[in-house]
Formats: sequence, C-alpha cells, structure tokens
Amino acid sequence: TGRFAGLNVLVAGAGVSGRSAAEALLAVGAAVTVSDASADRLAALASLQAQGAELVAGLSEPPEDTELVVTSPGWRPDAPLLAAAAAAGVEVIGEVELAWRLDQEKAESPAASMGRRAAPATWLAVTGTNGKTTTVSMLESILRAAEVDVVACGNVGLPVVDAVRAGHQVLAVELSSFQLHWSDSVAAYAAVVLNLADDHLDWHGSLVAYGDAKARVYSGNSVAVANADDAWSTRLSAAAATDARRVSFTLSAPQEGQLGVEDASLVDRAFGDRVVLASVADVHPAGPHNVANALAAAALARAYGVEPGAVADGLRAYQPGAHRSVAVAEAAGVSYVDDSKATNPHAADAALRAHQRVVWIAGGLLKGAEVDELIAANADRLDAVVLIGRDRDRFAAALARHAPDVPVREVTAGDDAGMLQAVRSASEFARPGSVVLLAPAAASMDMFTDYAHRGRAFADAVRAVVADSPAAS
Ligand code: ADP
Repeated sequence: TGRFAGLNVLVAGAGVSGRSAAEALLAVGAAVTVSDASADRLAALASLQAQGAELVAGLSEPPEDTELVVTSPGWRPDAPLLAAAAAAGVEVIGEVELAWRLDQEKAESPAASMGRRAAPATWLAVTGTNGKTTTVSMLESILRAAEVDVVACGNVGLPVVDAVRAGHQVLAVELSSFQLHWSDSVAAYAAVVLNLADDHLDWHGSLVAYGDAKARVYSGNSVAVANADDAWSTRLSAAAATDARRVSFTLSAPQEGQLGVEDASLVDRAFGDRVVLASVADVHPAGPHNVANALAAAALARAYGVEPGAVADGLRAYQPGAHRSVAVAEAAGVSYVDDSKATNPHAADAALRAHQRVVWIAGGLLKGAEVDELIAANADRLDAVVLIGRDRDRFAAALARHAPDVPVREVTAGDDAGMLQAVRSASEFARPGSVVLLAPAAASMDMFTDYAHRGRAFADAVRAVVADSPAAS
C-alpha cells in the first residue's frame, strides 16, 4: 500500500476538485475529513460519508491529528484554516499536487495502482494569463489525431486527480496560477507559459508573485517551451532546469529552435529539420492570438513525438470553446461576437485586435488591473463603447484620457436587464461593417454568476435586439 494509507488528511473546500481529492484519498486508504464554510456545499458530498469521510462545516483550524491539507485552489494562503495549518507545521498542497503524487506512486508500487495503467502518465502542462483552455483543447485534439490516449484536465474542468485515476497515457493539463501556487513537486514532461499580464493581482499581491507561481510549471521539465514574443514568458522560462531542452514559438518567421509562421504556414524548426505543420487557415477562430495558441499546442505535441500531419488534422478537428470569440448573429451588416471569456485587459486586447471597426461592450470587476494601455492601443478601432458593471468608472476615465472622441454610454442596471440595455445601445451605435464585441476585460461576478452566464445573457439580448430591429423583417 502507498504512502497515503492511514494518513489523516483534511480536504479544505467541498467544490469539484475537493470532491475528487476526497474520493481519491479514500480509495487509497487515507482517513479523510472535508471542511467547507458552506453547509450546502458539504451536503452535496454526503455520499462520501458512507465511504468513511467526515464532513465538518466551517472549520477554522485543522483537527488535532491532521498530517496533510489538500486545499481548493481558490483559497488564499491567508485563509484562516490554511494559516492555522501552516502555523501548526502541517503541509498544505492542492488537488493537482495530490494528483501528481498519486500518479508517481504508480511507478513506486505498480501493484497498488489505482487505475487501469500501472505507469504514470506523461504530463504536458499549459499555463499563462490567457489562452490556456484553447491551447490544452488544441493539444488534446492534436494528440487524438495522432491516436494518443489523452485527456485535457485541470483548470479546463476535469480534475487532474480524476484523469490520473482513469489511467490515461497523456494528460494535457491546464494550470492556473492558483493551482501552481499549491503544487510543489509537479514536474511535467513538457510545459509552456503562454504569456503573462496583469490578472488576479488581488490574490497574488503583485505581478512578480503571480509570475513566480506561473514559473513553477517549468520545474523538472524535459522540454521547456517559451513564447518568444512575450517578455515574461521568455524570462520565466529561465527557471527551467539547465538540462531541459528549450524551444520557443513566435508569430514571426522561426529561427532554429523555434516554431513560427512563414508563408501563411505553421513551421517547425525546433524538432528536427524544417517542417511545415499546418496552414494558418487551419487555425480557428482566426486571429493572431489563436495562431500563438496553436503553435504552443504544436510545440508540446511535437515534444511528445507527434508526427507533423497530426498537427494539421488536430487543428482542423478542434472545436472552439463557448464564449471565446463566437459569432452569435449577423444583422443589417453588423456582426455580434461573444468573447465573454475575455476576463482581463490582455485577453480583451487580443479580442479587439481581431476586428477593424468595433462597438465594444466592456466593464465588470477589474481585479486590480489597469485599462489605460488597452484603450490607448485600440482607440483607433473603436466606433463607440458601452460600459457595464461595477468598475465602469475606471473604463470611462481611461476612455476620456486616451480616446476622448469615442462616444461612450454607461449602463447602470445589473444582470440580464443591464445586458439587454447594453446590446440595444451598441446596436444603435453600430454601422454596417462594424462588429458589436462583448470582450469585457473584466470579471463578471458583479452582474452574473460567471463568464458563461454573461455570454448567454449577451446572446439572448442580441437575439431580442435583432428580432426587434426593422432590418430583420
Ligand atoms: P484561459 O483558459 O487562459 O482563460 P481561453 O483559452 O479560455 O484562456 O481564452 C480566454 C480569452 O482570452 C479568449 O476568449 C480571448 O479573448 C483571449 N485569448 C485567448 N488566447 C490568447 C492569447 N494567446 N493571448 C491573449 N489573449 C488570448
């Protein structure tokens, strides 16, 4: 039996990853307590009690005999329960670190393996401020085209613990900075930091601390992939081990050791001789940011040994995620695009740059980020701006500074009604050829449950406004 048998483990947080962590720990014989501030969330785990788990609401310190805490990634280190654990000298890890340790145990004691396979999986890890989900999904698609048994997991949705227990050969792991903060020994076979920009500074405290968390993805790699066009990615990749193979990607023509773009093709000059992997037209939704994501995915797939042909097949087969630059309607020469997933200025910048003339719907919770640079860089393409959400004053002030001639309307109503007003205003500003773009550059929780709710509210509002418009009849 492995090192978890009989261990007293506290699972902090009864969300999706907490449930999976608790189930995995019970399966390897640990003594498990689960705590959450919300009794309702805990109640959803009632079935685990039959397997021996203890459920305790609102613990502010770990039970006396706790030997390990597995925390939800969203909890900050200064949450009372985690601070108390640290003060008592109890190790605190995240669900991803737990997954890593359980996976490595397969090599140590194959007989005690939890899944179909006795060997640990190959981890291919992706982090960065923006493009993570797109990149791991493209990577999954490319590896499937190469007939590799792979699953995308981590921040994209499926807990890594579940992916490890299912025994897949390769894991395309999306890691948030929160998850990396709680992952000490994870050593992915190959990894990439796609980019780094202001986000979650309220959680991490500073861009440097945020970068430090992201840089952890490079520890222990055999292949370290950097974005040559992003200064932070390049700088952080220096954290990779000295014996790691280093490759990078760029939207320019590739040098030796790079993947890049030449004659409208994705070209690999890093793994073997110069080889064309795919056409830029194979990448969708179109836009430079998605070409960068495709190059990152291709680099990880090539690091694993995938043949060039599978890269093109996989990129063509890739199904874009919801709320990521999705066209929801076209009416009177105006197209309406949902990029609700643009939850920070850096993402909104990519979304805006994909269009010429934009009526921009923006605003929400800025999480400590600045929008001056974003607005200055995109002022030329703005026909008008409609502002929603709590931090709209910050947007309005920056617009007054950097785009004083662009008309701005502010919507004060919250939730779906606010979104309907915003879309109606935007459609009034729009002229044939312009794009009404929801790319808020901010989080959604002041008005909506999450970005998906915000995107659905936008699509509903667009349908209502388009149906009302005279041109529709
Ligand atoms: P994440 O998982 O990191 O949040 P997604 O792949 O879900 O990233 O994309 C989120 C949003 O970020 C997209 O809707 C788009 O607006 C923007 N985006 C995607 N890729 C990039 C990139 N490489 N650089 C900048 N912005 C990007």
